[in-house]
Amino acid sequence: MHLVWLRNDIRLDDNPALYQAAKSCNKAVTQQKMCAVYIATPKQWQIHDEAPAKLGLRSQALNDVRKNLGALGIPLYILETPKYAGIPALLQKFCDEHEVTDCWWNEEIPIDEKERDKAVAAHLQHHAVTTHECKSNRIVNHTLLNQQESPYKVFTPWYKSWVKHLALNIDLPHAKPDAVGKALKVDSSPIVLPGSDDFRSDLWPAAEKDALQRLETFVFEREQSYMQHRDIPSLNGTSTISPYLASGMISSRRCLAMIMQACGEQGRDWQGDDWLRELAWREFYYYLMQCFPKLCRNRAFKPETENLQWEKSAKALAAWQQGNTGFPIVDAGMRQLNQTGWMHNRLRMVTASFLTKLLLIDWREGERYFMQHLIDGDFASNNGGWQWSASTGCDASPWFRIFNPYSQSQKFDPEGKFIKKFVPELKDLNAKDIHNPPSKVRQHLKYPEPVVDYKFARERVLARFKELK
Ligand SMILES: Cc1cc2nc3c(=O)[nH]c(=O)nc-3n(C[C@H](O)[C@H](O)[C@H](O)COP(=O)(O)OP(=O)(O)OC[C@H]3O[C@@H](n4cnc5c(N)ncnc54)[C@H](O)[C@@H]3O)c2cc1C
Repeated sequence: MHLVWLRNDIRLDDNPALYQAAKSCNKAVTQQKMCAVYIATPKQWQIHDEAPAKLGLRSQALNDVRKNLGALGIPLYILETPKYAGIPALLQKFCDEHEVTDCWWNEEIPIDEKERDKAVAAHLQHHAVTTHECKSNRIVNHTLLNQQESPYKVFTPWYKSWVKHLALNIDLPHAKPDAVGKALKVDSSPIVLPGSDDFRSDLWPAAEKDALQRLETFVFEREQSYMQHRDIPSLNGTSTISPYLASGMISSRRCLAMIMQACGEQGRDWQGDDWLRELAWREFYYYLMQCFPKLCRNRAFKPETENLQWEKSAKALAAWQQGNTGFPIVDAGMRQLNQTGWMHNRLRMVTASFLTKLLLIDWREGERYFMQHLIDGDFASNNGGWQWSASTGCDASPWFRIFNPYSQSQKFDPEGKFIKKFVPELKDLNAKDIHNPPSKVRQHLKYPEPVVDYKFARERVLARFKELK
């Protein structure tokens, strides 16, 4: 019996471990059987701040995958143990009971997952189960180094080298695996993972085919207007596939393959594709996590910023979390997160800059809150995004880049369309007042005064960063 252990790769399409395991089963002289497991680890998820909405999406994705695997003759079992530490013994027991000879999985980069897999491999091998780790959910798995043979620390030079490497080493996605047996009658009782909650299934339908369909529609029909619309939160200008990538319902290699196909059909050069560059940010943050494992341990990328003196204000933090800062664009972003489990990228930058620069609250507080609420929470991208915003990370720009929430609002939501959707108490304001309503209007509408004075806050953070020098 061959076993596939599904983790952050809940899909049939381009799933290297699943594909290789099925191929091995079908190649054997007497066809071998195959099964799959998914292991819920509720305590570990709590420690990792996994959001209930993300676990809700994942539960439904597992229902879909169970059905699709069943059609190929592969049963899916759901196991549970509180933490990663319990997995080696749990898997070994499962392997004994099911006479498993081979266990397959896809690589994961963060340190806890790496240590978990090392322990599982050692334990299973000791009990005569052969383990196979396949290459992961990234487009390029090779660790690129600069001319000094060191890891890159800045995105643009890394990206140039990444595209160059990619052009010479294209790793095409795997197809769906072949059936290994007759279709099975699949249990129809719903899988509900511990800690999961309702999520906006109207915004993110949870079947793999829906995820692939969204990707295809975006790449072939909407991508051409991406650069024009991507920064306007009131428009549906981005792909919104991040929840699917974060739970591994689609692979980034499949995204690349579609980009290449669309570019081929439209006579464009895929190497210059703008959306590919965005996907590459996700890869870059995983690359950094791999090269600098301290990032998995809550450490700042730039060591000198560990000495920055942060403010501690439970009141200001709560105002930010609840979307009651009195800065309409910040509040709209935070309320979008609280209501939908997702936030537009421009607003992630605005709200993160607001927390870390203007409220001067430690980026780790924001990172945790985002992770606890995002349906697309992704350790590497979230950590990278927060450290970039706080100027503790890999950003090439200097620390005095401070987003002005008023001008960001005027530039990217000029008529306040987005603000009005998520801060409805301001819905009748004109385009002049909406970005910073006059005090009298605030009082009348019961909308809070700004939680901090912008000019004062800007000077304060500049002084704090200067102290580090
Ligand atoms: C403070 C902060 C926190 C963030 N936290 C997360 C997170 O937890 N999970 C997450 O997937 N993204 C995160 N991002 C990155 C980005 O905001 C989202 O990936 C993007 O908004 C998702 O929407 P989309 O799928 O429509 O993106 P598109 O613009 O269509 O981009 C396509 C894909 O490329 C990747 N991508 C795009 N921009 C980035 C970026 N700046 N960094 C990393 N990957 C990127 C994502 O996988 C995204 O789905 C964060 C950014 C910031 C500033």
